[in-house]
Amino acid sequence: MKYKRILLKLSGEALMGEKKYGIDPVRLQQYADEIKKVKDMGVEIAIVIGGGNIFRGVQAEKSGIDRVQGDYMGMLATLINAMALQSALEQNGMFTRLMSGIKIESVCEPFIRRRAIRHLEKGRIVIFGAGIGNPYFTTDSTAALRAIEIESDVVLKGTRVDGVYTADPEKDASATKYQNISFDEVYKKNLNVMDMTAFTLCQENNLPIIVFDMNKDGNLSKLVQGEEIGTLITA
Ligand code: UDP
Repeated sequence: MKYKRILLKLSGEALMGEKKYGIDPVRLQQYADEIKKVKDMGVEIAIVIGGGNIFRGVQAEKSGIDRVQGDYMGMLATLINAMALQSALEQNGMFTRLMSGIKIESVCEPFIRRRAIRHLEKGRIVIFGAGIGNPYFTTDSTAALRAIEIESDVVLKGTRVDGVYTADPEKDASATKYQNISFDEVYKKNLNVMDMTAFTLCQENNLPIIVFDMNKDGNLSKLVQGEEIGTLITA
């Protein structure tokens, strides 16, 4: 196994699947199947899930809601997704713990680094909900920060695009994909991998990122076994 401990970042929007809003049960089940395959290989798995399918702080600002208030609403949205994912994983026979960046005692544990690591060592899948618990951050930054804290080997950013391209492949047909790229090059070329806070955290802590297509069956398991899928970003 190439990676023993991974942090998987899933976007909220991906959970919509074919739907226009909310959570698509088919997509949820697909993710549970993919995660189970990797779990059965003995990999320790932590997951950060976004909330973009439900609410984003920046959007709220446009409709007159205070930014900070909107960000907290966004954080709560990630918890809704996290609870749905937790439920799907447990229904598929996995043991999980949901840890939140905001204290919501009746629903989940607060994030405590040592406890998160202990859960992983015991084979539980740890889902980090509510971001880092602070406004003006994103779940990409949460993924980077938590990955560093739990000493993950890598951040796996599951998207609907299969890697980092020279331009946006959904807009520019001539765009080509990078197999490998350095942090410096991503920065110089102003490529869109993660927001700058998240990206800088990974770079400064020498934490590799892999951007890959999470919606393609088998990709996650191939990645942890060392197959070159998506784009690997390293120092
Ligand atoms: N958010 C926040 N602090 C965090 C994480 C998230 O304020 O640490 C808020 C922010 O408003 C963000 C929203 O939660 O827009 C949902 O997260 P994100 O946009 O990262 O979700 P994704 O794009 O991955 O679906």
